[in-house]
Amino acid sequence: MGIKTEERELKCAACGEASAQTVVTEFDRDTSVPDLDMRPDEPHRSYIKYWVSKCPHCGYCNVSIDIPVLFTKEYLESGSYNRFDDSLAGRFRKMALVCEKNKVYAEALKACLYAAWVHDDLNEAEEAAECRRAAIKIYDSHKAVLSEDHDIVLLCADIMRRSGDFDRVIREYKGKFFGSGLLSVIAAYEAELAEKGDDKCHKADEVPGVTVK
Ligand SMILES: [Zn+2]
Repeated sequence: MGIKTEERELKCAACGEASAQTVVTEFDRDTSVPDLDMRPDEPHRSYIKYWVSKCPHCGYCNVSIDIPVLFTKEYLESGSYNRFDDSLAGRFRKMALVCEKNKVYAEALKACLYAAWVHDDLNEAEEAAECRRAAIKIYDSHKAVLSEDHDIVLLCADIMRRSGDFDRVIREYKGKFFGSGLLSVIAAYEAELAEKGDDKCHKADEVPGVTVK
């Protein structure tokens, strides 16, 4: 099966207009080994295009356009919002801005990461690194909230490393304990890769002693 989608008319939470949107109704469970930044393998890797929707009337981008917003639609007309285009990566960057405004900071951070993945696939290394730096900026701006979530803290180790900030990975992750033995082992592996100056993508099952099923 893979994935099933259907067209549904949804009402935009930002402007109130209705539009036809592609909605995922069913998908197979992902049993593949993810990358260290939790990027799924195929076939789920290709479904990323369904992870962001856009209202054609006001430009509101989010997982679904019926998700309520904590801002007025004027924000969507601002230069700050529209500095990103309507490519898939651009829509994820807009979604990150929206999520930050909506105070769902982990989602904002991940939306920047998804934009980086799009650039990775297009071999746009500098754009991908810029998206990762934007993700870390969100992490730093909302650290009191985000540092409570060990999965996010660990995800940031990979985001920092992939954008070439090896020093920070070593400084913040080497020899540190992260809630569980497993997370600490992954943190140690990230620090080890950073010490080698390795900014490449690695799979979760490359971590010594970790089996991913
Ligand atoms: Zn709208």
